[in-house]
Amino acid sequence: MKNNTLIAVDNSGSYRVYLTITTDMAEEAMQIHKCTPTAAAALGRTLTCAGLMGLMLKAYSDRLTVQIKGSGPAEQILATADALGRVKGYIANPGATLPPRADGHLDVGGIVGQGSLTVIKDLGLKEPYVGTIPLVSGEIARDFTQYFAVSEQQPSSVALGVRFTQDLAHVSCAGGLIIQVLPDAREEAISALEEMLFTMDDLTLLIGDAEGDLYRLLHLIFGQLPEEFQPKVLEERTIGWLCDCSKERMEKALISIGKKDLSQLIAEDKGAELTCQFCRRTYRFTEDELIALLQEASHE
Ligand SMILES: [Zn+2]
Repeated sequence: MKNNTLIAVDNSGSYRVYLTITTDMAEEAMQIHKCTPTAAAALGRTLTCAGLMGLMLKAYSDRLTVQIKGSGPAEQILATADALGRVKGYIANPGATLPPRADGHLDVGGIVGQGSLTVIKDLGLKEPYVGTIPLVSGEIARDFTQYFAVSEQQPSSVALGVRFTQDLAHVSCAGGLIIQVLPDAREEAISALEEMLFTMDDLTLLIGDAEGDLYRLLHLIFGQLPEEFQPKVLEERTIGWLCDCSKERMEKALISIGKKDLSQLIAEDKGAELTCQFCRRTYRFTEDELIALLQEASHE
């Protein structure tokens, strides 16, 4: 897969940037889950931010889960990402939709509603790290900005966007930007960044202007800053959709429901059909396969 993400630090060591174009991932998620445009925007933004946060993890085996629970019709959005940029996720109600907002934008905050944003990081320790904040707007980017400030004491600015083709059937571009202020940041750098963000165009418009070229996009966003605060690219990375489900994993899930429920599936349904909630792939188990799993469960 082509690299779609840049990690950069400015010349003065004042801030770090994560910049990504995730059009393919947002489109894949939209089609897999048959999302309405508003649901696809909410899911695409969440997947994009989760993917960027995955790249911030230190060890290759680390992974994180983002869970957004709200009072709106979307109900819940869940995304997982690992340090290699592999992302998957779902929205509990992909049919969620509301009329557009007064400014013509999709009402992502409306379908999410009020609730909480939780990040669970599995860093290979005994207990996972868990951080939760109340949602600020349900528009996702502002909620993550708040999460970084409150839960990780990391002053950041998050921009996330998903734009659609004219018929609203497909994602035409998607991306994300996270700017982290570093501990020894210069005051002038922070004010220059604030001014830049204040006048910055919508991220998806800039991705369109850059014609999908990451380096051009970086320049479009930061090019006006003084030389000493210009970002220097450290790394190119990739974020993409990947579901790692398999028949073996589904077998483990079936064994874990217990002998009683397995026996019931055999007696009443003569088989089982399990659908992965992340990629909607279906796994079928025959009666004989279930009997074998029941025997395995009895040995445990
Ligand atoms: Zn799957």
